[in-house]
Amino acid sequence: MELLGATKTELQRLCEDMNQPAFRANQIAGWLYKSGVHSVDQMTSLPKEFRKRLASEATLSRSRTAAESAAPDDTRKLLLELADGERIESVLLPYPDRLTVCISTQVGCAADCAFCASGELGVVRNLTAGEIIDQVLTLQARAGARVTNVVYMGVGEPLLNYGNVVRSIRLLNEEVGVSARRITVSTVGITPRILRLAKEKLQITLAVSLHAPEDELRRNLMPVTGKYPLRGLLDACRAYSDATGRRVTMEYLLLAGANDTVPHARRAAALLRGMLCNVNLIPYNPVRGAGFRRPKAAVVDAFRKTLEDAGIAVTQRFERGHSVMAACGQLRRRSMGDES
Ligand code: SAH
Repeated sequence: MELLGATKTELQRLCEDMNQPAFRANQIAGWLYKSGVHSVDQMTSLPKEFRKRLASEATLSRSRTAAESAAPDDTRKLLLELADGERIESVLLPYPDRLTVCISTQVGCAADCAFCASGELGVVRNLTAGEIIDQVLTLQARAGARVTNVVYMGVGEPLLNYGNVVRSIRLLNEEVGVSARRITVSTVGITPRILRLAKEKLQITLAVSLHAPEDELRRNLMPVTGKYPLRGLLDACRAYSDATGRRVTMEYLLLAGANDTVPHARRAAALLRGMLCNVNLIPYNPVRGAGFRRPKAAVVDAFRKTLEDAGIAVTQRFERGHSVMAACGQLRRRSMGDES
C-alpha cells in the first residue's frame, strides 16, 4: 500500500491490520501531510519496531526535484521526477498576501487544444492522489512557507483523472489544511464530470476554459467541444453553481483575430447572461508553432468593456513566470527538449 494519498480511514485500517492503536493513524497522517516527511524512518514518534514493519509493508513515494528555474517575479518552476521516472512540472507563485501553487494532474494531456503546448504529445498516464499532493508538499517545503492557494491548472485535464483529483482535494482540505475555497480546478469542460463534481458538494472554485462563444470556433480551438458542446456545458456550470452556491470562473484566452473581437465579446456576454460566473481574461502566451498571436492592449480593453457593459464581472490574469516557461500552456515542453 502507498501511504501518500491514503485517507485517515485507510490509515486506521492499516494500523488495525498491524495491531496498532488507532491513534497511530493520526500520527502517520501528521507526518505525511503536515510534516511532509520523505520516509517512514522520519516518523520518529512511532515505535522503532512498528516503523520497520510499516516500511516493509507500505511504500512512501515522494518526487525528486530534477530541475528548477526562477523568474525575476519570483515565480518558480520545478521539474519533478516521479517514482517511475516520468517527469511533471509544478509552479510556485508567491504573492504579497498568499502563496499559490499550480499543479499538474496527468503526465501529458489528451485534450489537444490548438494553443497549448501540453497536449502535443498526448497523455501518458494519470497522476495518483499521492503524486498530486506531493507537488503541494514539495513546493511548500521549497518556499519555506505554507501554501494558501492551489490551482489545478498545470499539465493535464483534471476531470479526466476524476477519482484521484477529488481524493487529492479532500486530502489537501482535511489533512494538509488548504481551505476548499482556495482551491480551483480548471477544466476544458467535461460536461458529465462537472455534473458529478456538483454532487460532491465541495466548496472549491470550478474554472472552465471557455475561450470561444460558439461551438464551431471552439471546436477548432478545443477539439473536446465536438463531444461536449457549449449548451450542455453551460447547463452543467449552472447546475454546479446551483448545487454549491459557488460562482464559476469562465476563462477566456484572447487570441488575436481569432476570438477577440467585439462581436465575440457580445456573443460571449449573451451566452453567459444570468449565470453566476465571472470571466477571467487570459493573455495568450505564445507557443511555438501554434500560429496564434496575443492581441493588442486596446483590443483586450474593448473586449473587456463589452463584457462589463453587459453586466458581466471581468478579471484579467496578470501574467507570471513567462521567462522560466512557467506561464499557462507552456509547461512540460521544455523538459521534453523542445524549447520555444
Ligand atoms: N486542462 C485544464 C487545466 C490546464 S490549462 C484546462 O484546460 O482548463 C490551464 C489554463 O491555461 C486553461 O484555461 C488553458 O486553456 C490555458 N492555456 C493553455 N495554453 C495557453 C497559452 N499558450 N497561453 C495562455 N493560456 C493557455
